[in-house]
Amino acid sequence: MSTVAPVGDAALPAVLDEWEPVIGLEIHVQLATASKAFSPSGVAFGAPPNSLTDPLVLGLPGTLPVFNRRALELAVRLGVATSSKIRARSRFARKHYFYPDLPKGYQISQYDEPLCEDGAIDVLVGTRRMAIRLQRIHLEEDAGKSSHEGATSHLDLNRAGVPLVEVVTAPELASAEEAAELMRSIHRLVRWLEISEADMEKGQLRCDANVSVRRRGEDRLGTRTELKNINSFRFVQKAIEHEILRQIRILETGGRILRETRLWDAMGGVSFPMRSKEEANDYRYFPDPDLPPLVVDAQIMGAVLGTLPELPGPRFERYQRELGVSPDDARTLVSERPLAEYFEAAVAARRPEAAVGVRGRAVANWLLTELLGALNGDDKAIGDSPLSPASLAELVDLIEDGTISGKIGKDVFESCYASGQSPAAYVESKGLRQISNEAELLKIIEQVLVTCAKQAADYRAGKEGLFGFFVGQVMKATGGRANPQLTSELMLRALKS
Ligand code: ADP
Ligand code: MG
Repeated sequence: MSTVAPVGDAALPAVLDEWEPVIGLEIHVQLATASKAFSPSGVAFGAPPNSLTDPLVLGLPGTLPVFNRRALELAVRLGVATSSKIRARSRFARKHYFYPDLPKGYQISQYDEPLCEDGAIDVLVGTRRMAIRLQRIHLEEDAGKSSHEGATSHLDLNRAGVPLVEVVTAPELASAEEAAELMRSIHRLVRWLEISEADMEKGQLRCDANVSVRRRGEDRLGTRTELKNINSFRFVQKAIEHEILRQIRILETGGRILRETRLWDAMGGVSFPMRSKEEANDYRYFPDPDLPPLVVDAQIMGAVLGTLPELPGPRFERYQRELGVSPDDARTLVSERPLAEYFEAAVAARRPEAAVGVRGRAVANWLLTELLGALNGDDKAIGDSPLSPASLAELVDLIEDGTISGKIGKDVFESCYASGQSPAAYVESKGLRQISNEAELLKIIEQVLVTCAKQAADYRAGKEGLFGFFVGQVMKATGGRANPQLTSELMLRALKS
């Protein structure tokens, strides 16, 4: 077994002037159904081993598959959301291989007539939105799981027959970072569409990465290797970075890349060969004679089209264009649908006078810093926020129209977050309205200048650094309620007179 030592990321940029990485991903997503793809057993994660089996999953003779309509609807949803062409009639095929966790001796998949083709998905790399083409999305069933302990092997067929979609991208990702972002995009999208929880720790989202390199300017693709079964965003990036460098080293020393499947060892930060193309299986695909063509009828299309939410990519742009949100904040806001929805509800709840074009900016600030900070501290999700979107909007309005200062706003936030009370009611009950009345402020300023006559004299004698002290005194006298800007203006005038 040949391994390659881990390499620091620092080595990458220099060689990349000459070499161009090309990456295509195959991503498996478990569909959130209640039962298996072709039989009635449940799909619960963590059930006792082999408790979720049935005659079909066990491959007993005489059993027949019946396709789960819910799985079809979920897959069509993903197809529509990625602008894919959806086949009105697609076909299931048998993919044959012998493995103990596959009792039937074949996996039901799709081959030359997949459900979806020629789609695209939005990927956010930093704050840049790019579209990556998808070659296909097809339906298939998962296999079981074998684990090995010394000389003993264990089989668990609970996962066998669980419905999956496989999403295959075009070979057009140009870096490990883009590949990791593509995986994040799929994760975000399938959760957004409620197709899958996509929990990687439960194996509900996993990916194979195809990697090749070529000299810049060359249009032919280089020979690729395939890294199997990567189950975290970080590992995708690490494994691909490592593979890119491994290939460049081989090519630069006159070697050639073998078309092989490699396994990534996350612990060691290395990959090693699993099988070469020559040893690869001939799957002997053929149409499954037990299953009729898979038909996408008007009823399913109607149900999907009628319930498709606005997607993260368009929202990312709309928040910047229409609501004045910064690209970084917009990216965070679309990271999960409940957060985006909270944000939109808060923006919609603002007073009509709130400035059009930047209505979302302050809401995004308060939501992403104060509210998410507080929720994280309490280990709560946005859906459990004690502060409603309307209350957050109210707080922003109170600050923007000058009723309270931003500083008092933080106190109001904390109190209302703890109590769930409305900020406007809280401000009234505690008498926290900002003092913006000139006459009232002037009276307080005069008092301060009398009490602090010595400092006033020092200031006038040239100790200008004392200015903050006077403003502070006014704040102290008003419990922080003095309008800070007006106070500064009036104070300056009073000191200069
Ligand atoms: P297979 O059936 O052997 O997995 P496919 O042709 O279906 O092969 O391609 C699978 C994945 O490999 C796709 O994501 C595709 O973009 C990617 N791919 C194909 N050729 C290359 C290459 N030369 N370099 C990088 N990725 C590639
Ligand atoms: Mg493959």
